[in-house]
Amino acid sequence: MSAGAEAPYDVVVLGGGSGGYACALRAAELGLRVVLVEKGKLGGTCLHVGCIPTKALLHAAEVADSAREGEKFGVKTTFESVDMAGVNAYKGGVVDRLYKGLQGLVKSRRIEYVEGEGRLADSRTVEVAGRRLEGRAIVLATGSTPKTLPGLEIGGRIMTSEQALQLDTVPPRVVVLGGGVIGVEFASVFRSFGSEVTIVEALPRLVAAEDESLSKQLERSFRKRGIAFRTGVRFSGATQSGDTVRVELEGGESIEADLLLVAVGRGPVTEGLGYEEAGVRLDRGYVATDERCRTGVEGVFAVGDIVPGLQLAHRGFAQGIFVAEEIAGLSPAVIEESGIPRVTYCDPEIASVGLTESQARERYGEVETYEYNLGGNGKSQILQTQGFVKLVREKDGPVVGVHMIGARMGEQVGEAQLIVNWDALPSDVAALVHAHPTQNEALGEAHLALAGKPLHAHS
Ligand SMILES: Cc1cc2nc3c(=O)[nH]c(=O)nc-3n(C[C@H](O)[C@H](O)[C@H](O)COP(=O)(O)OP(=O)(O)OC[C@H]3O[C@@H](n4cnc5c(N)ncnc54)[C@H](O)[C@@H]3O)c2cc1C
Repeated sequence: MSAGAEAPYDVVVLGGGSGGYACALRAAELGLRVVLVEKGKLGGTCLHVGCIPTKALLHAAEVADSAREGEKFGVKTTFESVDMAGVNAYKGGVVDRLYKGLQGLVKSRRIEYVEGEGRLADSRTVEVAGRRLEGRAIVLATGSTPKTLPGLEIGGRIMTSEQALQLDTVPPRVVVLGGGVIGVEFASVFRSFGSEVTIVEALPRLVAAEDESLSKQLERSFRKRGIAFRTGVRFSGATQSGDTVRVELEGGESIEADLLLVAVGRGPVTEGLGYEEAGVRLDRGYVATDERCRTGVEGVFAVGDIVPGLQLAHRGFAQGIFVAEEIAGLSPAVIEESGIPRVTYCDPEIASVGLTESQARERYGEVETYEYNLGGNGKSQILQTQGFVKLVREKDGPVVGVHMIGARMGEQVGEAQLIVNWDALPSDVAALVHAHPTQNEALGEAHLALAGKPLHAHS
């Protein structure tokens, strides 16, 4: 931009995934002039190769299990097979409808949409397809991409989640490398679809970022479901030959499979985009920001998976909205990372918010915990699911962590996040009435117990 000239846009957003499009929508709503640059499809990872298609697969998996397990409820059903063409058509239909809706939304807010691979030319300009888009503020939202391990090349029977979403048959034997969120969700789907599944995880437990109690319960449930896992074991190599892939583990063990799913995390998309040249500081590839999503370069912000922290779509939405409001001068409240809810949609589901027990001990010293077993919850018994709600509170203080596991428990995270983010005391929640019979009652019961007046629980 020539000195003193008016920037044609208020905001230039680079990347149209959860973080970028949320920012563009909110900025436009606030009357700002916005241009959104996207090289692939509006909606990004979450809509096209992440949250939405995987949750459609998980729902199809649940339907398969229900067909298998009808007898448990006195209903005579038989499970025949999974038709991947049908599953993919269902999944694609869900994605397409949401994609169309999102495109319509962007259009209706009068956001200028530019297709093409953008690059930060300087702290005020994004270059794309021979155009220079100049803005008063720039928002970097280029997201993330699957990682692999050194020497492990993706191709053939070695896939990441992106290729695994396009399978047209169910692989009989699958090794999942990585027992984090994406790994356990795919393991759960494959098992329900009929595959033999083995998860290999270098850390000592599955879903290692969660409270230890959740890992233990998940491992118990996976064992019952026939999902094998090796934890605390390092992968050492993989070779493909003919129709199989042989996965080698340190210590000499090897596992033969038809598919190796590499789910070892996602890395930021920041290389070669002109960020560092424009003065934006990168930290191991991620964009370093302060708590207001500022990069340190005046007028340049970053949101979503390129910012270190939880890689979740709703964190991207929240940061996108925050930055739009910041640019519009509304001084929004800072987003507390530990207050962001987390759901892992495997069977059983895991949902949590706030600090794990060990994090809380580290921060507060003395803490109190309570675990309410879903065995005492009517609706969970109707669904025939096992699990619990675990509360962590600062000694004599508010609830600082809620950790839940069991079928459909992801739906309970809404109330859990209000409790943690509003610093509720167990007695505050115990005073609220929870509808019967719902799984939501389990949250109420856990707080009743922690407040010293258990109902359907032993004191
Ligand atoms: C298998 C899987 C399952 C997931 N499930 C969940 C879930 O259930 N819940 C949840 O909250 N999160 C989930 N996630 C994570 C979620 O998808 C991400 O956190 C979210 O998409 C991040 O949003 P983002 O805007 O930062 O990045 P992205 O969604 O990756 O979007 C970035 C966009 O920028 C574009 N881009 C990149 N570089 C350029 C460039 N140079 N020029 C123009 N455009 C560019 C890309 O094409 C992309 O569209 C899942 C992810 C995966 C992979």
